[in-house]
Amino acid sequence: MQFQRRKTIPARQRWSKTHLKDIRCQRHMCSFTDGVAYTRFLVSDHKLAIEELRHANRSWRYVERESRLCRFCHAGVEDECHALLVCTGHPRLSRLRADFLRDVFTSQPDLRRMTSASAYDFLLTLVANHNLTAHVARLVYEVFRVYEEKELYVPPTHFIRADNP
Ligand SMILES: [Zn+2]
Repeated sequence: MQFQRRKTIPARQRWSKTHLKDIRCQRHMCSFTDGVAYTRFLVSDHKLAIEELRHANRSWRYVERESRLCRFCHAGVEDECHALLVCTGHPRLSRLRADFLRDVFTSQPDLRRMTSASAYDFLLTLVANHNLTAHVARLVYEVFRVYEEKELYVPPTHFIRADNP
């Protein structure tokens, strides 16, 4: 499944208040660990570059949004949408996504019509559909694990070497 390309969405616009309000209602539908990962995904409390590189620290200078690239493919901004639905930079991501989409389309066949939508619109639809919460939460948990196994990509121009004065 190939989604249309679309500009990434600023963090404050990513999820509506309705999505966030729904967290408590939806958490009971999945396992504890999946629910924790899902909540972290919704409130942007995760280790993806889009959040991690928002602030400078001892290891890197502030990284502009468009330079917070995916640690696996370097081909797009490493945000939730890229990690969950777009990135093909790690074989496990592609496998997890294929399994996820197979389950989702089996459970909700009408979503197949969204194959021409942008990945972001598709993700919003998934999050808004409470029948899919357990599937989405499982995917989020597994994908976050894949990302957390590899170090964040910091552009060399922003990296602060330990031996710098
Ligand atoms: Zn990627």
